[in-house]
Order: sequence, then C-alpha cells, then structure tokens
Amino acid sequence: MHNGTDILWQDRYSRQTKFAPIGPHGQVEFQQSCVLIVGCGALGSSLAQHMVRAGVGEVRIIDRDFVEPSNLQRQVLFNEADALAAVPKAVAASEKLRLINSQIQIVAHVADVNAHTAWHFAKGADIVLDGTDNAATRLLLSDVCYGLNIPFVYGGVTGSNGMSAMLVPGKTACLRCLIGEEHSTDEGDNCSTVGVLSPAVEFVASLQTIEVLKWLSGNRDALRQSLVSADLWKFNFHESSLPAPSNQCSHCGDTAARNNRKVGASEGRIAPIKMESTVVLCGRDSVQVTLPHQIELDLMRRKLEGMDCELTVNRYLVKASLRSGESLVLFPDGRVLVQGVVDSAKAIQLCEHYLLGELIR
Ligand SMILES: [Zn+2]
Repeated sequence: MHNGTDILWQDRYSRQTKFAPIGPHGQVEFQQSCVLIVGCGALGSSLAQHMVRAGVGEVRIIDRDFVEPSNLQRQVLFNEADALAAVPKAVAASEKLRLINSQIQIVAHVADVNAHTAWHFAKGADIVLDGTDNAATRLLLSDVCYGLNIPFVYGGVTGSNGMSAMLVPGKTACLRCLIGEEHSTDEGDNCSTVGVLSPAVEFVASLQTIEVLKWLSGNRDALRQSLVSADLWKFNFHESSLPAPSNQCSHCGDTAARNNRKVGASEGRIAPIKMESTVVLCGRDSVQVTLPHQIELDLMRRKLEGMDCELTVNRYLVKASLRSGESLVLFPDGRVLVQGVVDSAKAIQLCEHYLLGELIR
C-alpha cells in the first residue's frame, strides 16, 4: 500500500471510471470482487494482467507448469530469467503482477486443477476465467462453475484461431453442451502441433476480459450472449448465439433444482480421480504422474545428484534432465512432469528408476 502517497494514486483507475458504464461504482465493485484464473500460460498471463491492472480486489492464479523458452513468444508475464531458472508460472506471474499493482491481493498456487482441487479453488470466486490449454480441464471447470453457480468465461486459442464465450449458470448452456463430449479427449489441433500466434491469444483474452468487466461492474444487460470464433490470419469471424440451458444436461439443466442444490451434494457428481494417476498432457510429449504422497524436494535433489542427469533446482521444483533426452520435473505436491515421453508406462518406468522404487506403489 502507498499510504503516504495516496494523492499520487487517487486517479489510478480514472481512465476506466470515466468510462460511463463502469464509473466509480463499477470500480468499487471491482475492488470487492474475486476472480479465479485457471492456467497461467498465454491466455492466463494476459487475463491476469488485465484483472490486476483493472483493480480487481483478489486475483487467484493456479498453474501446474514452469516457464520454458518456448513460452516467451506469447506469454507476456515471463522473461528469460524465469525460463533459465525454470520458475513455476504461478510464482513468476505473481511476482510481475505485484509490481504492477501492490494495492490488491494476488494469490498464486503451483498446483494441478483436478476433480479434487477445482471446487476448493473456485469457492468464493465471483467469476472463473479459462486460461487452460486442454478440454478436459475446461469441462471440469464448467461443471464446477455450474455446480457453484459461478459464471465461466471460456477461451481457447490454436494457430491464428481463437474462440470465446461467457457461460452463465441459469442463463446459458454449459461448456459440455456447447462443445460436446467429443472434444474432451484433446485429439484435435493444439498449440504444440500447429503453433499459436500471440495476436490470437490477445484477441481471445480481450474477448474474455471485456465480459468480466461487464459482469463485475453490474452491466449484466450488456453481456454478449454468443460464441465468437475468429481466424485472425484469414480475417474470418463467426458469431453464434449461445444455446439455453438443456434439461437433458445434469450440469446446466434444471435451474431451480441446481440453485437449491447444496454445494456439498453437487461435489459428489464428479468422480474423483485416483491419487496415483497419470495424465498425458495435450500435445506436449509430456506425462504427469501423481504420486500418492508429497515430494520432499531436498531429499530428491540429494538422491538425483548421484545419478546421471543434470539438475535445475529452485524453491518450487527440481528438474532432472536425463542423458537420454527426457526430463523429470518434481513438484512438492506429489506431481512429476515427465517430459519427452508420450505414454504413461514409459513415464512410470522413468519415475521408478530415478525416484526410488518405493515411491511408486
Ligand atoms: Zn449443459
């Protein structure tokens, strides 16, 4: 806080409070709001920057990954030092965001958003922003948001294409109804296979942000009730109306019952994943192995130092680059990101070899 220099900061938000639909009242609403941003890669970085600059009172950021050189072309909150030190994205982002605005609360978690954790992170948020890179997490977030009656702002980017929709429980269909279950396996194009251009990212982040500003400032009538998709390279734009909630859907249908449903009861609708699980990460030649317990980073660092690999160590993770080309990235929450493999069996085999047999039961 800048107590002694309040006069200097009094017009900090003047350019958005002078915008009539927001006004000073909207600014107060922003300051009293909490926004959850899931994923802090390209979209998430841009979304977080917009929220922090706008003066949203609490900005929560969740990301499971760390900064790599291939991120720097489009992920606006990161720099070369972050990539060299393999800093977790949530940590690197929060450091930059605190420099942008010290007058709000920024809460960053290096964590996986899954069926266990999503409810916890979303509770108390006024709106949830999609900064993820895979359909499975998006669909989970949509389910959670509809269970908790929180709007979900969907955004996705590949190549020069982007799309976005603001999904509001009780008003519009959920993401499952919108994009369908067939997209839940991520077998289509993704950023690793077809690339992604930064203007497409910024375009989608802008589409998402403008709806958030409308929602938080109470301008509900101004919300765009459509799915917008665009190819910026070809300059093709398409807009289609969002379907109404479907009574065939257990997530967005039956509004009255959903609104009366207790949160605890709705949590049970998502089958919990096994604690010891593997997730093949979308198009990244990576598999995430979740161990049944937390990882003692210092202990693992000492063990790996005696093995045939090169280590990158910081407060948040240990990265072991193996001679054979793969990397193991260990996080304290029990996750091991195995890079350079595409199947779970190989990932588990490497974990078993390098991380003590008894770690994998
Ligand atoms: Zn639905």
